[in-house]
Amino acid sequence: MATVLSRLALLQPRTLAEALRLLRDEGPLVPLAGCTDLYVGLHFGTVRQPRFLDLQGLRALGGIRLSGETLVIGALATYAELIASPLVRRRLPILAEASRWVGSPQIQNRGTLGGNVANASPAGDTLPVLAVAEATVVLRSADGERRIPFNGFYTGYRQTAMRPDELIVAIEVPPVEGRQWFRKVGTRAAQAISKVVMAAVRAPRPRIALGSVAPTVVRAARTEAVLAERATLAEAQAALMDEIQPIDDLRSTAAYRRRVSANLLAQFWNDTGRRGLLPECS
Ligand SMILES: Cc1cc2nc3c(=O)[nH]c(=O)nc-3n(C[C@H](O)[C@H](O)[C@H](O)COP(=O)(O)OP(=O)(O)OC[C@H]3O[C@@H](n4cnc5c(N)ncnc54)[C@H](O)[C@@H]3O)c2cc1C
Repeated sequence: MATVLSRLALLQPRTLAEALRLLRDEGPLVPLAGCTDLYVGLHFGTVRQPRFLDLQGLRALGGIRLSGETLVIGALATYAELIASPLVRRRLPILAEASRWVGSPQIQNRGTLGGNVANASPAGDTLPVLAVAEATVVLRSADGERRIPFNGFYTGYRQTAMRPDELIVAIEVPPVEGRQWFRKVGTRAAQAISKVVMAAVRAPRPRIALGSVAPTVVRAARTEAVLAERATLAEAQAALMDEIQPIDDLRSTAAYRRRVSANLLAQFWNDTGRRGLLPECS
């Protein structure tokens, strides 16, 4: 391992301005946050770029706060911080819930929300939550700031709208009206990548998003419309099974993912239709 590590370089800026200047002038550089995804990539040889930009010292990327009515979550917020945050638990309890299902306590202590979003895996557990929350991704480069609606951030399988000279600095979440719901289905309770993950909001126009059923996280727009028109649950389930595009892979089959997605939809609808059954953050 020493020989592998010895060809790697780590730049450690002290401020966000310095980090952005390095990204622009000294690139290509790979941003490094908790390193939980990157380390796996290094180990398996899928991360070939040898120069890294350490974000850990950048205070500007940390913190969880309210700005007016908007919940602002710094890109470096870890899962452990999301789980513990009274603001997150009050405003977006399904983000705390999703965080609790990520990996293990070790991963929750190191892995960050910005890393989950930037990594762009269709199985990222926080991504359906941010999709139904209609969050905004705040990007910064040496040239300025851009805000991209989360639902337009992914442009294809593991592709995002972020440029190589940009960093995710924060995720902004507006108030979410309606009962929130989250469920992850994996092989086991811990250290399992999702076979299907769903987040949903029970509002006059319901919101539903799923992971692991398409090349990117997806909002189930047609299913949402069917539910809003007060069609039957069976009609909504049929719409959902038709609109997702799961694949067969080593973790599961497309048929299983379709069936589980329909079952999760029924569970969401039944749970949130009854008072007092909202999944709470314990
Ligand atoms: C054992 C194990 C279990 C896991 N379990 C789960 C799970 O259950 N659910 C799940 O969703 N994930 C899981 N993961 C994946 C991983 O932990 C998460 O995706 C985590 O959120 C990544 O965050 P990080 O800070 O470690 O990112 P890093 O590994 O540091 O970076 C990941 C990617 O994001 C980029 N990046 C990071 N921060 C920024 C930023 N601010 N701006 C721009 N680019 C950035 C990096 O360049 C890299 O491409 C697991 C990983 C391991 C090793």
